[in-house]
Amino acid sequence: MRVLVLGAGVVGVTCAWYLRAAGHQVTVVERQNGVARETSFANGGQISVSHAEPWANPAAPGKVAQWLGREDAPLLFRPRLDFDQWAWGVAFLRECLPTRTADNTRQLVALALHSRALLKQLRADLALNYHHVELGILHFYTAHADYQVAKKSAALMRTLGCDRRSISAAEALSLEPALRSVAARIVGADYCAEDESGDAHEFTMQLAQRCLQHEVKFHFNTTVHRLRIVDSRCQGAEVFQQQGSAPGVPTVLETDAVVACLGVQTPALLKPLGIRLQVVPAKGYSATFDIIDAARAPSISLTDDEYKIVFSRFGNRLRVAGTVELGGVGIELNPARCEALRRRTEELFPRACDFSQPRYWAGLRPLTPSNVPYLGESRIKGLYLNTGHGTLGWTLAAGSGELIANLVADRPTAVPLRSLVA
Ligand SMILES: Cc1cc2nc3c(=O)[nH]c(=O)nc-3n(C[C@H](O)[C@H](O)[C@H](O)COP(=O)(O)OP(=O)(O)OC[C@H]3O[C@@H](n4cnc5c(N)ncnc54)[C@H](O)[C@@H]3O)c2cc1C
Repeated sequence: MRVLVLGAGVVGVTCAWYLRAAGHQVTVVERQNGVARETSFANGGQISVSHAEPWANPAAPGKVAQWLGREDAPLLFRPRLDFDQWAWGVAFLRECLPTRTADNTRQLVALALHSRALLKQLRADLALNYHHVELGILHFYTAHADYQVAKKSAALMRTLGCDRRSISAAEALSLEPALRSVAARIVGADYCAEDESGDAHEFTMQLAQRCLQHEVKFHFNTTVHRLRIVDSRCQGAEVFQQQGSAPGVPTVLETDAVVACLGVQTPALLKPLGIRLQVVPAKGYSATFDIIDAARAPSISLTDDEYKIVFSRFGNRLRVAGTVELGGVGIELNPARCEALRRRTEELFPRACDFSQPRYWAGLRPLTPSNVPYLGESRIKGLYLNTGHGTLGWTLAAGSGELIANLVADRPTAVPLRSLVA
């Protein structure tokens, strides 16, 4: 079968790999001049199964209200006169109900566990090396109340098959001595030995190389304009190539199936077809520093619960990422948020890095109200959705790609699907 994958972020490229492995003729269309140039470019790097919990939970509305208007808040909601944003907000509140949170957590953890296993397999089979670190993820707390809540979450996650252990501050320090400068403030931690980290951009580039070696075609600098629907079936896409076709004349790429992996851009492409996806851009920031004293930099991937930021080490670079801004689609850098990342990193790991040369970046997470992605065939035959992975796109990419490949081949999926499809 001919399959067109739209978007070459980590989700699209991983999906292309699994589709090719299933024997299809695969073509990937991407508007940038390479893979993983948008949200998959400089994320936090965590393969975080044991914290694959949705943002929508019973405590979330209170926290969002408390942070309203604070420019350096971990989660900042910028209200706009935008119907889609408000509709998303209402849906988010519904997902904060305890039963919805529990169901969403189950869904996410099942997919994340499967995804992590596939990623390990893929790495071994294809000899991929993307600065992955298999030392687990350590999530540390500085507030007693938050740590008590986390202990309950850890117990729940264990019932779902995760290896999340609540440990003392002393144990956390012995696992990651680089935390010594804030030792006195840490009240406890969670440790997930099976979780890992790695550079999603490097992974995607290497996997794209393997795809090319297996005859997957890539059309870069090519923007998908609209989908071609004939007899209620998706049969291709009209695209604009920056070089090639005359301006204003789209090229038609014919195919038997299309998988939409366009991240935050997916809703705009599908809206004219009457498919309304609830995906909003949740802007996040990262900063990458060169390490100058390896012993002072963390080796284990970390999550700082107080600031809601994560740290991952990629060889001689340290990446810190996090914060959420809901509202707007721009990726311009807000100096207050950048500085908050730099300041906290230097506070935690003084003299570990060259803090005078931060490389700041912002990206837009494609976020659904439940945090659960849209995965599966849409109500238009031949049009599959693989989008809306929000905070967990790197964690869930392998599982989502394999799942779509199984659906296209009409094979059973390893993870049961709720109705996530529009
Ligand atoms: C600050 C930050 C930290 C994060 N940390 C983590 C983490 O630690 N762990 C984790 O699991 N996840 C993390 N994430 C989330 C993760 O990065 C995303 O979920 C993931 O990158 C989404 O991948 P994607 O392929 O769906 O989207 P993208 O990477 O955005 O890919 C979509 C692609 O579609 C292309 N495109 C769009 N429209 C068109 C069009 N019309 N025609 C052609 N091409 C088009 C774009 O150019 C883009 O390349 C983080 C995100 C951010 C912002």
